[in-house]
Amino acid sequence: MKYIEVALNLPLKMSFRYRVPTELAARVKIGSRVLVPFRNKNLKGFVTRERGKGERKLKDVIKLVDDFPAISRPLLRLGEWVSQYYHCSLGQSLHSMLPIQRSLKDKEKKVEGKKISCSGNLAQTSGGSVFLLMAEEPEEKISIFLSLAKDVLARGRQVVLVVPEVSYISSWNKLIQSEYGNCVAILHSRLKDRERYVSWMRMRREEAYFAIGTRCVLFAPFPDLGLIVLEEEENTSYKQREVPRYHAREVAARRGKIEGFPVVLMSQSPSLESWSRAHKKEYLPISTRATRKARPQVEIIDLRQEEDKVLSRSLEEAVKEALKGNELAILFLDRRGFSRYLLCQDCGEVLRCPNCNIGLTFHLKGALSCHYCGHEERSPLVCPYCTGNRLRGKGVGTQQVEKEAKIRFPGALIRRADLDIGPSLAGSALKDEVIKGKIDILIGTKLIIREEILKEAKVVGIILADSLLNLPDFRAGERLFQLLVKIKRSIKKEGKMLIQTYNPTHYSLRCVRDREEDFYPQEMRAREELHYPPHFHWARVLLEGKTEARVTEASQRISQKLGEKGVEFLGPSPCPFAKIKGRYRYQLIVRDENPSRITACLKGEVGYSSSSANAV
Ligand SMILES: [Zn+2]
Ligand SMILES: [Zn+2]
Repeated sequence: MKYIEVALNLPLKMSFRYRVPTELAARVKIGSRVLVPFRNKNLKGFVTRERGKGERKLKDVIKLVDDFPAISRPLLRLGEWVSQYYHCSLGQSLHSMLPIQRSLKDKEKKVEGKKISCSGNLAQTSGGSVFLLMAEEPEEKISIFLSLAKDVLARGRQVVLVVPEVSYISSWNKLIQSEYGNCVAILHSRLKDRERYVSWMRMRREEAYFAIGTRCVLFAPFPDLGLIVLEEEENTSYKQREVPRYHAREVAARRGKIEGFPVVLMSQSPSLESWSRAHKKEYLPISTRATRKARPQVEIIDLRQEEDKVLSRSLEEAVKEALKGNELAILFLDRRGFSRYLLCQDCGEVLRCPNCNIGLTFHLKGALSCHYCGHEERSPLVCPYCTGNRLRGKGVGTQQVEKEAKIRFPGALIRRADLDIGPSLAGSALKDEVIKGKIDILIGTKLIIREEILKEAKVVGIILADSLLNLPDFRAGERLFQLLVKIKRSIKKEGKMLIQTYNPTHYSLRCVRDREEDFYPQEMRAREELHYPPHFHWARVLLEGKTEARVTEASQRISQKLGEKGVEFLGPSPCPFAKIKGRYRYQLIVRDENPSRITACLKGEVGYSSSSANAV
């Protein structure tokens, strides 16, 4: 008699055993999906282990779901790693790897992939290594990507390209198809189940040998994967917000290690994590031509000196200049920081947490709080730095910028694009309008910061850099730097970027203007003292519940346990969004230089849930 262990998509720490009926025994294998009875339901799960013996009272497997094991052995190992590192059950991690509900049917029709002959080098010699590709020009990035892929395909292996968002897929797809024809499978969460099934099967049968997709394509079922490439590796979309809360970069690197192929991270301004690993030689650089083409000018405007806090004199002049030449001007504003911090309009300082140095969150009723460590204070009446009395908790919105622009630039074609006016404009319609010259001044939020729009722009004005710089997030400076570098690299070479700020000497801004490579060592030093990543690993323990008392009680209990174990942690404190859908949310941040110590100490104390711990 055959017995198996099955991983179910449940937030439970144990595994479940079943008996395999004799007629299924030959076909049930490790990695197979089976339907099993659980309490009074039938659930699908993955076979993770086979056993020769078991207790007699075990229930029978009801049926085998697919014609073949849905998860290969290497992917099962990857799933085990995800469940340990990101603190979820093996069932939760395996279910996220196979985004298909229907049964997988075997059609034994395997098309022989077209083999391109070429002498390879990178991929042959560097299985399991991670490379960082920092090409300055998009053309160079593309040509390096294509030549790496060519090497891999020549040896009959397959290539996966991971992109941060669905909108990146079509241009890459066109590019690859123009080189290699119809060999691309596309995978992302917005596909219908049927489409996903077709894509998935094409990969498994090697009818496709290229896959492009968002995070979920990391688990592409190619039989002999030879390369994973991540586009724009610093993009925040690579962090999954649901369980398992994995980061695409880490999963890609781990899969490369397990299956022995190289992983390439592409970036114009890498994350501090990747930069520091490259610095320590854990990631290897891919050399690029060191040519430096002319770059747009960057000007930093000190708003403390300006009468008008929305459109400074320099920005107004630059926009007028662009209008005269019939060129596109973009006015960018990020509203996430909108009225959530307190800024002194005289000296430009922001009220920050004395422990964590992140912006304190400003609440109505005049309270300030830190959502990392829980520090609270009353908001002062005068600025503690300069004793000025112009402390403001409010920024400007896109509507206000639009109103101002209409007054200053009468006759210009002005278009506002933000989430308020619907997502349709965010698509290709907006790009078409821009290309056809139907817009003189485009005002918007992050929606408009896309390469195909930026490359049409002559002037870009950042209305208030501080709204990003002061987000209550230790990565705020890094994010701002990366955004500004992206804008600077994408707009017209003879163009100009103007940054309005109350903090004109901040290195995140100065490095964009002067020397980009100086940013990383400075940011590393700033993070070191406060034990921020990448020096320390962070894991967030999120506690949710219907009554606040129970959530705080649970968080006290956990913090006491963590204290007894002698691990370093921050909080408990209310989350930035302290109540969502009627549930109270608190968090604790556990940090350590060694991630396995965090894993070990959470293992005993924190249960799995549909939303539990979260490596930052
Ligand atoms: Zn001040
Ligand atoms: Zn704090």
